[in-house]
Amino acid sequence: MRIFDPHIHMTSRTTDDYERMAAAGVRALVEPAFWLGQPRTNAGSFTDYFDALTGWEPFRASQFGIRHHCAIALNPKEANDPRCREVLGVLPRYLAMDGVVAVGEVGYDSMTPEEDEVFAAQLQLAVEHGLPVLVHTPHRDKQRGTRRTLDVLRESGIEPGRVVVDHLNEVTVGLVADSGCWMGFSIYPDTKMSPDRMAAVLRAYGPDRMLVNSAADWGRSDPLLTRSTGQAMLAAGFTDDDVDRVLWRNPVEFYGQSGRLEIAGTEAGAASGANVPAPVFAGNSIARGGS
Ligand SMILES: [Zn+2]
Repeated sequence: MRIFDPHIHMTSRTTDDYERMAAAGVRALVEPAFWLGQPRTNAGSFTDYFDALTGWEPFRASQFGIRHHCAIALNPKEANDPRCREVLGVLPRYLAMDGVVAVGEVGYDSMTPEEDEVFAAQLQLAVEHGLPVLVHTPHRDKQRGTRRTLDVLRESGIEPGRVVVDHLNEVTVGLVADSGCWMGFSIYPDTKMSPDRMAAVLRAYGPDRMLVNSAADWGRSDPLLTRSTGQAMLAAGFTDDDVDRVLWRNPVEFYGQSGRLEIAGTEAGAASGANVPAPVFAGNSIARGGS
């Protein structure tokens, strides 16, 4: 099973997680920029983080044969802090970089006027840079947040096929299916979607425009839940080809729209059903790099 996790926050995961992910079949991922828990107080704090997403994390992932890409944005929560607004001005510099395959996470947290403004501005940036967009939907009042998200997307004029609306569930999936946008699902150990519920959604809606992610972050989460979802799909009667489509070909198609996906060399082993190649682990370079 070859896996492309289209939304995972490796910044908050250990190097052991990279090792476990590689062993489970994860060969590529996209790490979107998000809120780090501790509120940031100035734009420089963001640029250091964006530099880590485009420099340090791809290096760390490469130790285990995993291709790391990222999405860059001012996240919805910090869009509310005027001290962070300056970040919008530095985004174009990052959106021009090779490893950046989308604008994200953007969208709503509390649905404030500030979030409206920052969301719309970043959709324009995505259009200008020809990049897909990863949209976070709020955890509270999800249905209203998803409707409003779809209204803003329509007003922006962005092509629906270049947008994934993420963190969906059984209640919100139908709205997004009708919009023409891609549908993203975060599989969590005890909240949001579970692997079995995800398999049922795929049964109901089909595999078209579907993206499954672990969204693993600082909270209780599991970077191997993409694989568990593949297993739940097989147990529910889906074929290996269906699983490959959802866990590999769909994210490749979606982020491939950036023209910047670097996945050559990650596919050969999977096609022959071979195991993941042994990670090229350069001695203690992780420890050295961190010092
Ligand atoms: Zn996220």
